[in-house]
Amino acid sequence: MDAEFFRRWLTATARAVEREAGRLTELDSAIGDADHGANLRRGFQAVTEALAARDPQEPDTPGAVLTLAGRTLVSKVGGASGPLYGTLLRRTGKALGDAPEVSDAELRAALEEGVRAVGVLGKSEAGDKTMLDALFPAVAALAESYPAAGDAAARGAEATIPLRARRGRASYLGERSVGHEDPGAASSALLFATLAEVAGD
Ligand code: ADP
Ligand code: MG
Ligand code: MG
Repeated sequence: MDAEFFRRWLTATARAVEREAGRLTELDSAIGDADHGANLRRGFQAVTEALAARDPQEPDTPGAVLTLAGRTLVSKVGGASGPLYGTLLRRTGKALGDAPEVSDAELRAALEEGVRAVGVLGKSEAGDKTMLDALFPAVAALAESYPAAGDAAARGAEATIPLRARRGRASYLGERSVGHEDPGAASSALLFATLAEVAGD
């Protein structure tokens, strides 16, 4: 997979976020502050623009694409999800180094690092009812295939419904966070659905 593959992944994610922004915000209105769709829409739109405006002098590598996208999310998204997704993409990009092409195994190892970094930044772990509940199973299932990772992320997001939130705004609700899907887990499922799509093309 080359830099172009990663641009296709991120622009496909921007389109998916655009399409699903209403649902993401609805999920966030139940257990948060009703801005997750708007936050990610603004962030990924800026990512699409940043990728299109890339400096031709800069090396065109998978690592550079992911790092630019991560930096853009951190700077454009005020909510918790900006630094968290920004860290995921930046750390994954950094782990890929400056290779012009990366293998499936290299991407999986890099995403493992990226997802771990989200947990460190958020002081969160599996079962806290956050994006990690989609990201961890997705990365684990990458060992099997991209479609398996997409499915695992979707199942992980759905499995947050009965959980009680222990991190983020939803945790302020305590017991009342039970019965709702975590918005960040839902958006992480989109990220892995588009990865499966782009990998299958
Ligand atoms: P905010 O909560 O600041 O309004 P968003 O609504 O954009 O930000 O994102 C909320 C999502 O961020 C949550 O649904 C959850 O998945 C994720 N999140 C929040 N805090 C944490 C954390 N400490 N660790 C991991 N994920 C988190
Ligand atoms: Mg919110
Ligand atoms: Mg907010």
